[in-house]
Amino acid sequence: MCFVLPEDYQALKEATREFSEGEMTDELLKACNDRHEFPFELYRKAGEVGIIGAGFEEAVGGAGFGLLGAAIAIEQMCRVSPGLGMALSLGWIPGLVVDVNGDDRMRQKYVRPMVEGKAISAICMTEPNYGSDIRRVDTTSDLVATDKGDVFLVNGNKIFTTNATYATFFTILCQDGDNETSLVFDQEVMENNPGELDIDEMPGKMGQRMVSSCELTFKDFEVPKENILGKRYEGLKTVINFFNKSRVEIASQGMGAAEYGLFKALAHAREREQFGRKILQHQAIGHRLARMITAVKQAQLLLYDTAWRYDHKKGGSWMEKGLSTCMVKYYIPELALDILKSAIDIFGGYGYFEEMGLEGAYRDTRITPIYEGTVEMQLDVISHILMRIDMNYLNKDFF
Ligand SMILES: Cc1cc2nc3c(=O)[nH]c(=O)nc-3n(C[C@H](O)[C@H](O)[C@H](O)COP(=O)(O)OP(=O)(O)OC[C@H]3O[C@@H](n4cnc5c(N)ncnc54)[C@H](O)[C@@H]3O)c2cc1C
Repeated sequence: MCFVLPEDYQALKEATREFSEGEMTDELLKACNDRHEFPFELYRKAGEVGIIGAGFEEAVGGAGFGLLGAAIAIEQMCRVSPGLGMALSLGWIPGLVVDVNGDDRMRQKYVRPMVEGKAISAICMTEPNYGSDIRRVDTTSDLVATDKGDVFLVNGNKIFTTNATYATFFTILCQDGDNETSLVFDQEVMENNPGELDIDEMPGKMGQRMVSSCELTFKDFEVPKENILGKRYEGLKTVINFFNKSRVEIASQGMGAAEYGLFKALAHAREREQFGRKILQHQAIGHRLARMITAVKQAQLLLYDTAWRYDHKKGGSWMEKGLSTCMVKYYIPELALDILKSAIDIFGGYGYFEEMGLEGAYRDTRITPIYEGTVEMQLDVISHILMRIDMNYLNKDFF
């Protein structure tokens, strides 16, 4: 058994760290946050150097490092700059839904340009009345015949959609009779549409200010029938397939943010002196850091194990996949916030100020336990699985 990353993964880690340290400056972070502006140029560069493609298959222009590669890339970006790292990864994470459910035509059309840093994705599931519970939604899609062929007429409201003001393609979950169907569309569908789609930014967000969060209103918005993602009436299945991957990538955002807080706090505690000693040499701070580094390392092992299992198909059923996915999605974001809070404490008064980076990192990371399913939802799914999963899997394969 070997816990050291294989050479090519180590190289990916080092290259992503180097790229991030060179490009993700505090000045850029501040400028993008102040202007509420997505770092388009950096996203394009991340596509060019292969960071976006780390986790995608070679068939769509990726590097083929799988979910473990994506986790490492996101972790490294967020370790250097949680705000910029999260923003960049939010350009492609919503598009995973097309990558995991789409046919080759869709993957080449939508996913390939995204891997190259030329396209930004959005996914619209949440509605004013349906957030944690998306088993039924109010946005409808009715199949009608037109002179251009069969189209879905989409009507309804979606909220909190990340990136919608600048996304180049969207996936939307709709109620289609008694079931749900997922549809994909891009700017071409939007431009020549006889129906309406209004996109309004939702103001006053706590963090992640360089990423837009939007309300979308659809009125008889036409989406061609061939734009069904996966199978008609299996929209919920497409979302679950997506979550199994996307939740690990969101956990990776938290992972990097936790490391950011840990390493900042450690550096400060080794330098700052009070009462004639480094503050790390005061037992209260020393023990706190000892607990922090243990928890962060433990989380990293859990994250890598989960991603590796996904890539190597260790656990094929939805329960086997869902168990570890929900574990990292609830555990690591919560840990990241604890670590960032402790880091602010270790910085004392300085930690409260923007200049040190920690208050911004805390605000940016605060969403990670909420989006892509809250902590309560992850714990609910885990406990549901624990009641039903084959004990042989837990006894022999999982542990
Ligand atoms: C910045 C941001 C970006 C987002 N990006 C997107 C996006 O791109 N696309 C998208 O579709 N959505 C997005 N979301 C929506 C996000 O996924 C939802 O906010 C989240 O899933 C929770 O849904 P809700 O806000 O409706 O809360 P609710 O579902 O109303 O939940 C409120 C509280 O009740 C708890 N709760 C609910 N049901 C139960 C239960 N059965 N048992 C115990 N507790 C329960 C929840 O855990 C939570 O604490 C985003 C949200 C934000 C804030």
